[in-house]
Amino acid sequence: MMNTELIDIAGLSVELVRKPIKNLHIGVYPPTGRVRVAAPPAISDDAVRVAVVKRLGWIKKKQREFEGQARQSERRYDSGETHFVFGKPLRLLLQPTRRSGCVIQPDASDRLTMKVPAGSTTDQKAHWMSTWYRAQLRERATPRIVKWSERLGVPVPRWGIKLMKTKWGSCNPDKGMVWLNLDLAKKPLPALDYVIVHEMAHFVSPRHDDLFLSVLDRNLPGWRQIRADLNALPLSD
Ligand SMILES: [Zn+2]
Repeated sequence: MMNTELIDIAGLSVELVRKPIKNLHIGVYPPTGRVRVAAPPAISDDAVRVAVVKRLGWIKKKQREFEGQARQSERRYDSGETHFVFGKPLRLLLQPTRRSGCVIQPDASDRLTMKVPAGSTTDQKAHWMSTWYRAQLRERATPRIVKWSERLGVPVPRWGIKLMKTKWGSCNPDKGMVWLNLDLAKKPLPALDYVIVHEMAHFVSPRHDDLFLSVLDRNLPGWRQIRADLNALPLSD
């Protein structure tokens, strides 16, 4: 039987898995640089902490590598490119127009039409696309944050959207603030619910302790699978 818990070590959120193995193993996984430690039951939590702290330099280096990989796979915004919208792959169709602004419209046939002024640069197209993604995410997240705050019995937080390279969400319980990663607009909607519930559960407990896990288990029983699926998806798609 495997037993997974989330623990904080030196500011890192670490997944600790207890299983009958000989040696402790530390892994850092793409795309977000998630840290997972597999340890035999005989090794104490303190010894696990020491082992992680000793390899902190290596862990940070791996996380920086994944950040770099995520940055490399940048888009050109040409027709035919695949862009994901809430987990659905859409084929980009660029339509040059004489207008000055940009209109982005998904359709039922899995196409994402982008009407842009002729001669727009890749940077301009990237900017319009990211503005559009931000609006999509805001529209989907707004009712969810209200719904989950009622279910969890915590106040509706102030929240914002920003691009984060190694985290799907973050929060500051003292300030009642939640941040969502802009790239959640590309991921299936259960991932958005998971990240919202995770961050808002920190208003119940700031740490990844039993109380925190019980809030997740009670309100979103499938959260472990959703998180595994989310972390298996490439960050850049
Ligand atoms: Zn957390």
